Amino acid sequence: MGILRLLLIVFVGYLAYRFIRSAFAKKQIPRTEPKGSIDEMVQDPQCKTYIPMRQAEARYVNGKKYYFCSARCADEFESQNKEAKL
Ligand SMILES: [Zn+2]
Repeated sequence: MGILRLLLIVFVGYLAYRFIRSAFAKKQIPRTEPKGSIDEMVQDPQCKTYIPMRQAEARYVNGKKYYFCSARCADEFESQNKEAKL
């Protein structure tokens, strides 16, 4: 009998949780991200992966700013570009 009562409490608690969650969800402002924001996706010129700008590794190569998924890609791109220039 104790288990049934516990299940009922859990069920009611779950319903309350769902109700509160949906009530909060409706209050949320719809996302209107301006273009050119910090969440802009940038392409890694080394491995061609797209990463969010704020997570990207920024590096100046030959005076131009590039974004990379990791410092490793940045190092590889930098060394390859320097070789190409020489
Ligand atoms: Zn990469």
